[in-house]
Amino acid sequence: MTIITPTSIDDLVRVEEQRFIDRMPRSAKMAERAVGSMAGGLTSSWANTRPIPVWVERGEGGHLWDVDGNEYVDYHGGYGVNVVGHANPHVVAAVQRRVAQGTHFAQPTEDAMIVAEELVRRFDLPLWRFNNSGTEATMDAIHLMRAVTGRDLIIKVEGTYHGHHDSVVVSIFRNLDDLGPADEPWRIPGGGVPQSVAELVRIVPYNDLAALERVFEQHPGQIAGMIIEPMMMNAGIITPIAGYLEGIREITRRHGALLAFDEVKTGLVVHPGGATKLFGVQPDIVCLAKALGGGIPCGAVGGTLEVMSAIVDGRYDQVGTFNGNPLTMAAARAVLTEVLTDDAYTRANELGVYILDTALAILADHGQPAYGFSKGFKVSVVFDGHRATNYREFLAINTAVSHLHFLTQFNRGVFLPPWGKSESLTLAVSHTKADADLYLANLATVVEQLMPLQSRASEMFAVGSLT
Ligand code: PLP
Repeated sequence: MTIITPTSIDDLVRVEEQRFIDRMPRSAKMAERAVGSMAGGLTSSWANTRPIPVWVERGEGGHLWDVDGNEYVDYHGGYGVNVVGHANPHVVAAVQRRVAQGTHFAQPTEDAMIVAEELVRRFDLPLWRFNNSGTEATMDAIHLMRAVTGRDLIIKVEGTYHGHHDSVVVSIFRNLDDLGPADEPWRIPGGGVPQSVAELVRIVPYNDLAALERVFEQHPGQIAGMIIEPMMMNAGIITPIAGYLEGIREITRRHGALLAFDEVKTGLVVHPGGATKLFGVQPDIVCLAKALGGGIPCGAVGGTLEVMSAIVDGRYDQVGTFNGNPLTMAAARAVLTEVLTDDAYTRANELGVYILDTALAILADHGQPAYGFSKGFKVSVVFDGHRATNYREFLAINTAVSHLHFLTQFNRGVFLPPWGKSESLTLAVSHTKADADLYLANLATVVEQLMPLQSRASEMFAVGSLT
């Protein structure tokens, strides 16, 4: 066996990637077999992990096990879903009860009403509907904005991901070279989406009120609404600068346009009432998914009376065979009424602050510039001294260091989301201080490895790139 003495960050990545592969012979075999029947050997293109896909056996509480029997503290959280922990006893009991009584009628069950009433209470929006994913939630939001205003154009923020329907896969997960001029960003559609559809979208940078005002002035009376994550996830976590959310609320209202908050990642996670209540700015529409179902596929859209009247009077048919599926509703009821109690948020906040403060102290001790964020069940630690305020600044963050961090954590028993610098930690109600301490010890290992290096420049990962 050749022993490599790492002299560059790319060497460190190579060593950790080899270790990653060596720990998972069964995963490697399954991935090899799966390419014969599943496109790319995967269930979703986001389920890829570099260097090879990880196949999972089971989860319990805040931990999961891969098919090779390796155990992990799970901060991946299935991309931010798993705040209740795997196989949470309340959710298991609710789902087991429901399974035995039938799981689908395409007619409402009592649980749906209890869930809706709880969402009304948490988000201060009077009417809700259910669907089956974050993509469906933001799709309903866009349809509603157009149906209510009778206008076609939509504004979205550069680099934000709102799911994979046509109206929103514009300017997502692009590298710096693909973005165009900062004051007139390109509208590049995702694969399979015509440019003509992308032309119905206007792109603005996050945290830039002047740019938003400009777009409204350029298109008087044409903009149906703006969809935005109140805190920009999938880019580390970018928080709104003072007055930004209040500003977009005022500008959209002044121009007769609607405001939709995509809280697919933040809702029920950063605060009982999501980022809406955390920041105290009330949108016309809130989109939820992920954490709501406690691990069962779910989605929801809530709105003001004005917005939801379009559903009530039939201007918009909000439909779907599986909407309000009894299994999902049973799980969501348990999530909202039994698991995500005020006390659960208090404990998550305490653990998150402990992780963030200790992580930043470790990084500072090793001369590694860093910043972070922690609220509720979300924590992010970013390996850069400049706090990104928009997507272009986020792209400047060193991708190689973030990937090395993912690999080092993974190889030592902590599963982070695989997209390095884009993602954040999701805590679960069942995570402990011991789990956090393993993460923190691994973090120290990363910076100890980095310290002797003269430079963190990488040939594998270009500056301004995402992966
Ligand atoms: N909105 C945001 C902010 C997301 O992060 C995601 C998924 O990661 C979605 C929407 C789409 O959700 P789904 O994957 O359930 O369709």
